[in-house]
Amino acid sequence: MAAPMIMWFRRDLRLGDNRALAAAAEAGGPVIAVFIHDECVEGLATAPAWRLGLGVAHLAERLAAMGTRLVLRRGRARDVLDQLVTETGAQTLHWSRAYDPDSQARDREVKAWAKDAGLTAQSHLGHLMFEPWTVQTKTGGFYKVYTPMWKAVRGTELPTPIAGPPASAFQPTAWFDEQGIASDSVDDWALGAGMRRGAAIVRPYVRLGEDAARERLDYFCETLIDRYDTARDQVFADGTSNLSENLSLGEISPLTCWHAGLRAMEAGKSGAETFLKELVWREFAYHLLHHTPHITSGNWRPEWDAFPWNEDETAEVTAWKRGSTGITFVDAAMREMYVTGRMHNRGRMIVASYLCKHLLTHWKIGMRWFDDCLIDWDPASNAMGWQWSAGSGPDATPYFRVFNPVTQREKFDPRREYTDRWIAEGRTLPSDTALSYFDAIPESWAMDPTDAYPAPIVAADVGRKRALAAYEARGF
Ligand code: FAD
Repeated sequence: MAAPMIMWFRRDLRLGDNRALAAAAEAGGPVIAVFIHDECVEGLATAPAWRLGLGVAHLAERLAAMGTRLVLRRGRARDVLDQLVTETGAQTLHWSRAYDPDSQARDREVKAWAKDAGLTAQSHLGHLMFEPWTVQTKTGGFYKVYTPMWKAVRGTELPTPIAGPPASAFQPTAWFDEQGIASDSVDDWALGAGMRRGAAIVRPYVRLGEDAARERLDYFCETLIDRYDTARDQVFADGTSNLSENLSLGEISPLTCWHAGLRAMEAGKSGAETFLKELVWREFAYHLLHHTPHITSGNWRPEWDAFPWNEDETAEVTAWKRGSTGITFVDAAMREMYVTGRMHNRGRMIVASYLCKHLLTHWKIGMRWFDDCLIDWDPASNAMGWQWSAGSGPDATPYFRVFNPVTQREKFDPRREYTDRWIAEGRTLPSDTALSYFDAIPESWAMDPTDAYPAPIVAADVGRKRALAAYEARGF
């Protein structure tokens, strides 16, 4: 009987197109599926932690239905794996690679321990379509601008998705009971504790698990992708894939999305290439994170270090977070995020621009708020998106390009469908979605749908002039 293999699930909560899992299954020994509430999970902020808990519970149920168990343990990854190796007799570990600095530090520690212990530890491609270090410019450097990277990538043949292993590849449930191998329950971890009453509001918007993600991908590629080029900017429409939360936790693989998009392109669907391009934006974010890890912690362009950003929790920042700036597009988007855990990409660009430019506030404050609120939180895309919006990042929007949130609303929400969906104040018959915001927010915010809608804290034209003056004063 071959020794069991440990498949350490992290942000790859799927069975299909999971190369780490396939490698564990192909090796012949029974697979022991493990998820660890480790040092990286401890570091997650509110909504991402809650969403991860849902994803892990879903995977555990799925594996239970297949007659095996997802072993859940809490502790430092290296210590937990050490204990599990002793308990199970496993000699080999497999996992999908992670790329953010904290996960990489953890994985280095695990690899060093495995080596010392004489174990085999193998990491695999899974979170991305290609490794960030495999794409190089003609001079051997890394890409700092997206378009040349897209051009370099678009013609390459990327690996095709692989099927998930059969149920027989896993160690059967009875074995865990016989061996006395204990498992926590996800509920014990209380990953959703920080969500408080917001959890019940956000929950209906969650698309949970691999099957649901695949169904959405199919629907998107059959029905929506044709109009994606234009609909992707219509904030009121169901015009994008909405797969970011599933991609973030690996409930669907980016290669599965890529090949579905490729098939749609070959079938002549017009928005398909743009969809592929967006998937490469995600890769670009990881490419940058790999080569310049400081993108999550400091200005990517050092010339911004001297810029006098506001870094305090001012009344303006509080109004921004609470969706009560008096600028309808900004407020609608901030409320959308609070109620759904996601925000339309156009909304993300507008609220980020308003915070960094109109309110001259450091992008880190906005990034941290997104870290806390997004169920599709992704360390690379969030950092890149914020630095892009602020002007301090690679391939960023030029510092002098200050989105006007009023004309943006007129352009992308001309009939006010989006703003009416999310703002209740001042409406005779507010929508249910707008009202649900007041059930999600902490009572201490003391906001009520019958309040008067606030006047702008910083009007669009005033903020623009102020930002441009501040840039000029700094010699930009
Ligand atoms: P689609 O339009 O259907 O695109 C398909 C996929 O491509 C997305 O699911 C996503 O994985 C990827 N993608 C699309 N646009 C981008 C982009 N600009 N950058 C990187 N990848 C992209 N995305 C996250 O997944 N997590 C974040 O935490 C995040 N934070 C952001 C913060 C700011 C300030 C900005 C401006 C953007 C941020 N984005 C983030 C990128 C983008 O807004 C979302 O990926 C997109 O809104 C997800 O919607 P969708 O799944 O319908 O995307």
